[in-house]
Amino acid sequence: MTRKTLRKILSFGVSVIAITAVVVVAIFYSYSESQVKENLHMVESIVEAELNQNGEYEFLQNSIDEKTRVTLIAADGTVLADSMEDASKMGNHSDREEFQEAVSKGESSCLRQSETLNESTYYYAKLLDNGNVLRVSTTASETKDFFSNILLYVVISLICVIAVSVAISVGITKSIVKPFEDIEKNLDNLDAVETDAELKPLVDALKEQKKRQKALDKQKKQFTANVSHELKTPLTSIAGYAELIETGMAKPEDVKPFASVIRKQALRLVSLSEDIIQLSQLEESDEQKIVFESVDIYEICKKCVEALSINAKNKNVTLTLEGENCYVKGNGSLLEELVYNLCDNAIRYNKENGSVTISVVPEDDGVKLTVKDTGIGIPDKYQERIFERFFRVDKSRSKATGGTGLGLAIVKHIAQQHDAKLTLNSVLGEGTEISILLKK
Ligand code: ADP
Repeated sequence: MTRKTLRKILSFGVSVIAITAVVVVAIFYSYSESQVKENLHMVESIVEAELNQNGEYEFLQNSIDEKTRVTLIAADGTVLADSMEDASKMGNHSDREEFQEAVSKGESSCLRQSETLNESTYYYAKLLDNGNVLRVSTTASETKDFFSNILLYVVISLICVIAVSVAISVGITKSIVKPFEDIEKNLDNLDAVETDAELKPLVDALKEQKKRQKALDKQKKQFTANVSHELKTPLTSIAGYAELIETGMAKPEDVKPFASVIRKQALRLVSLSEDIIQLSQLEESDEQKIVFESVDIYEICKKCVEALSINAKNKNVTLTLEGENCYVKGNGSLLEELVYNLCDNAIRYNKENGSVTISVVPEDDGVKLTVKDTGIGIPDKYQERIFERFFRVDKSRSKATGGTGLGLAIVKHIAQQHDAKLTLNSVLGEGTEISILLKK
């Protein structure tokens, strides 16, 4: 991060400096060029005034100014006088760009290679009243020399400024990155980190995440401990009874009931492991991976009623399904598991000759599924907790009826994944009603 930030700041700084330097140099260049042109105009007007005054042009043969050259050209292009060269030796100038333009337009300025001096030269030519053309020129080397001197200073100052900006950038980068490094170093003790107001939300979010992670870890540890405990009881019982049979300590008439206990405990282990697997699969698969489709929740309830009718009959409980076919957005097998668990509980925690009513009712914003029983009910103080894993109001009753303590935890999970609202209404001794509002 430090390198990246430094590179960004540096490239920004250097580009700003470089652009500024180019702009300044360009301004200087155009300024010096305009100075040269102004100078040529001035010399021309002085010489023109002199020519007008005495009509002679011989004075032009003498050098006027060592940097500026003055040439008087006749209308046919013959050079009449030149301040730097012998006019008689100079060829006809009628083909010169500035001469032609001055003749046609009255005056002309240009920058071109001089044939006589073989140097890049600025020209200013003007058509005089008598038809001659007065031309003044100066070589561009003047500007170039001035310019190369300036350029040297510009480059030196550029190097100095870049060196200073590198030092400043390193300083700025360090000060930007330092708070992040502090946070990284003190991840285990975020309270000790002193941050600016801008970084406070980040530190707070990290603290919150750590808190959540801690709670999650605690929950996982608790779950593992609970699972080991739940497995230990049936396994100890299986091992104990098997040992009695193995060592011959069990009387022949005890063998059968002992074998029956072993079978029951083994079945308990099977349903426990099934529920544990189901719960961990639910936790692992996030909502994106679950296939949601349009399913008929009434049909699902019908299936569960059929599957549980024997259990209901054994307990002398009547099982009734009310409502109509209703489609909801959900996963068929997960919803089947949810309905099965609710109905199974409603039968198991029911009273002799009690009843269970399942109803499927369409509502404005979805479909309401209700499982209502006339069972033992849940004490108020435990109503919040029954959806926790392994929480049972009456452990022995749960175990005796084949409960694992995970049924409602699975129900809660499935409801959450379907974004469905769960409501519980229960009166101790009278019965329980659990409703779930599914989306269409
Ligand atoms: P279990 O396997 O013990 O039934 P659940 O997670 O399904 O586990 O339920 C947790 C506890 O909630 C049960 O042990 C029971 O005490 C209570 N409970 C669940 N459903 C009912 C119900 N319909 N009537 C009364 N108590 C219930």
